[in-house]
Amino acid sequence: MFISKELLLACALEFDVKLSDDAVMKFDTYARELVDYNEKVNLTAITDPDEIVIKHFADSLAFIKYSGIEAGNSFVDVGTGAGFPGVPVLIAADGVKVTLFDAVNKKLEFIRSLVSSLGLDADIVHIRAEEAGKMPEYREKFDFVTARAVAQLRILSEFCIPLVKVGGSFVSMKGSISEEEKVNGIAAFSKLGSELYDDIIYNIHNGDERNIIIAKKISHVSSKYPRNMGQISKKPL
Ligand code: SAM
Repeated sequence: MFISKELLLACALEFDVKLSDDAVMKFDTYARELVDYNEKVNLTAITDPDEIVIKHFADSLAFIKYSGIEAGNSFVDVGTGAGFPGVPVLIAADGVKVTLFDAVNKKLEFIRSLVSSLGLDADIVHIRAEEAGKMPEYREKFDFVTARAVAQLRILSEFCIPLVKVGGSFVSMKGSISEEEKVNGIAAFSKLGSELYDDIIYNIHNGDERNIIIAKKISHVSSKYPRNMGQISKKPL
């Protein structure tokens, strides 16, 4: 094994996720392929096996606990990068329909090859979230939309909330968030037919703090959103 099975099982249990032997083997393959591919294309600064387990895999599994996602739900990970949190959720949560978006195709080449070597099934789409949010096949189609470490909350909200079904949730995952970013983000929720549902601070296995903010979608988003990237960054909501 490349990663420590004991560490992975313990970290997953901290988020109430019980991993099968098959899932453990898949995480081991994931870590090996991530470190290999990272020699060619920069996907992550974290390459130590224990750190991959704690900072990437377990933190991604926190999504399962705090979002309450269950079999039959659809889910898109916006800006999946090296697959976080989308691929750990795909491995560990049975029966969830997983879509992975990223604006950079080189990263998705890694994800396509990984998902195929794990024998799993996901929609892997080279697209910017704010373009997907205008397309009928993606707009207001997902039960859950998440993004980890992608952009400031008010910008991220405009990328992500147009993709959420009415009644669904947007789940923002970050290392930490300032009070100002939070207040601006919550103001953006209301312009996008949504309201704050939960604000969770939790710790990963090494004691580092992480933040999840959840918005519930209560009504349709105005057709003027999402705007294009230039407008979003020039005048964030
Ligand atoms: N979510 C991963 C993680 O937690 O390790 C990757 C984080 S990385 C810092 C940000 C990723 O978001 C990059 O892969 C980038 O290409 C992608 N990204 C940024 N803005 C995006 C957008 N508007 N639509 C789709 N992907 C985007």
